[in-house]
Amino acid sequence: MASEKIIGIAASSGIAIGKAFKLENPSFEVEKKSIQDALEETKRFHKAVDQSKSELTEIKNKAEKELGADKAAIFEAHLLVLSDPELIGTVERRIEEEQVNAEFALDAVANDFITIFENMDNEYMKERAADIRDVTKRVMSHLLGLTFQSPAAINEEVIIVADDLTPSDTAQLNRQFVLGFATNIGGRTSHSAIMSRSMEIPAVVGTKTITSAVDNGTPLIVDGLDGVVIVNPTEEEKAAYQKKQKQFLEQKALWAKLVHEPTVTADGVHVELGANIGNPNDLEGVVNNGAEAIGLYRTEFLYMGRDRLPSEDEQFEAYKKVLETMGEKPVVIRTLDIGGDKKLPYLELPEELNPFLGVRAIRLCLERQDIFRTQLRALCRASVYGQLKIMFPMVATLEELREAKAIFNEEKEKLIQEGVPVSDAIEVGMMVEIPSTAVIADRFAKEVDFFSIGTNDLIQYTLAADRMNEKVSYLYQPYHPAVLRLVHNVIQAAHKEGKWAGMCGEMAGDETAIPILLAMGLDEFSMSATSILPARSLLKKLSKAEVEKHVDAVLNLDTAEDVAQYVQTHLK
Ligand code: PEP
Ligand code: MG
Repeated sequence: MASEKIIGIAASSGIAIGKAFKLENPSFEVEKKSIQDALEETKRFHKAVDQSKSELTEIKNKAEKELGADKAAIFEAHLLVLSDPELIGTVERRIEEEQVNAEFALDAVANDFITIFENMDNEYMKERAADIRDVTKRVMSHLLGLTFQSPAAINEEVIIVADDLTPSDTAQLNRQFVLGFATNIGGRTSHSAIMSRSMEIPAVVGTKTITSAVDNGTPLIVDGLDGVVIVNPTEEEKAAYQKKQKQFLEQKALWAKLVHEPTVTADGVHVELGANIGNPNDLEGVVNNGAEAIGLYRTEFLYMGRDRLPSEDEQFEAYKKVLETMGEKPVVIRTLDIGGDKKLPYLELPEELNPFLGVRAIRLCLERQDIFRTQLRALCRASVYGQLKIMFPMVATLEELREAKAIFNEEKEKLIQEGVPVSDAIEVGMMVEIPSTAVIADRFAKEVDFFSIGTNDLIQYTLAADRMNEKVSYLYQPYHPAVLRLVHNVIQAAHKEGKWAGMCGEMAGDETAIPILLAMGLDEFSMSATSILPARSLLKKLSKAEVEKHVDAVLNLDTAEDVAQYVQTHLK
């Protein structure tokens, strides 16, 4: 069979060679239908339950053998749900008494059970709600004749192929077995791409057609360096990519020598290289890649892949772990940034036509102050375990910043009154990701301790090009002179007030952008952990005094293309 080359967007570097695993999330539209023969319908229901049981037993056995009994316990719990006479019996009764289809009866009964479990005080029982939800999906898929793949159930080495991967799908993936990703949609800064980088999994997104080009088991190569997927590779292609993979690993080994070195330019200027993380599991990558700080902890991932909000104590434990691990090194924790492509199924938020322009991040937190205050309390309590800095996402106006700061101060004061120790050195900063904020950064700079420029969003809002939409990815231009002028303005405004300016958008790790950002005086660069060593290697070769001379010239270029050319000729 001839191979097929599919071009996408390089999202996470490295080469993966393996077979495809299609992750499909069918939507379960359940219709209520009257039935004639309740006995037949009950049989149909039992058949779906039995199919689910044998699938789960198979998954459980495999997981037990390959991952150990611990990891397999979840499937045991799922099997127990399917053997629960209370649940199964209630579905049977409803089919018979109401003369309705099995899908409808199962959906109704499962929802009742989920509500009961969710409202129990006991944590263990609460978790059973998630089991019922997962198991119901599996049985429902058999009733509806659809395929259901739970990302958590993957237990062999595969390359995940999906239309899109939601951040919660990505969070549930078993890192051990996922060699790479390829998706139809998405851009370099969509959150699944960002997570693939922090998981160090090669990924290509925005291929448009990958799901229709492969079946489960199709041999694949994912080239996350150049954004290419090869379907059904020939032996020659496989050999060529094995060679490319080897070269990449050799390059990585060279970078690894810089792990314990500080980031100092050729003329002796130190800049801070930080890592972006999504949860405490990412800390290993942070340490292994020699980060000097955590420049962005995206706390929303703590709120995902679960059924309810994390408690203050759960949050405290997570923040404490990160702060303790980093010790003397700074940790910038961002308050909840939900909305846009990051949704929480258990938070009933109204559907919005433009979620990226809607109630997200700080807007949601100011509206749902109960959620915000719990997080701020957890942060304050954790502050004594390290060098905590907190920042607010998506600030558009000074009023928002002032309100957020006032709430933070209230919660901090309350804790102190309660006798709880809170560090008196917590810095409070904000992200600059909206052009309105970047333009009047001079006003904001007086009221914060620091800025962190979120270019992932700043670029999409400046060029009005959705960061998730591969069709407008040609307009998503980090080097557009308008973006550079905004970034420059923010750094200048911070320095005028004696504050520091960092960047935690993906642009901070971009090899073309780094010389410009150094030239503009950026103090801290925070990026996916895997970008740190290549960035350090580049920064060590640059002289700040030299690149500084080019700032005016760069800011006065016409196009992003001109900027890239200029960097190539004058700044490398
Ligand atoms: C950004 O917008 O640049 C950023 C770092 O935040 P996020 O990618 O989580 O939106
Ligand atoms: Mg953002």
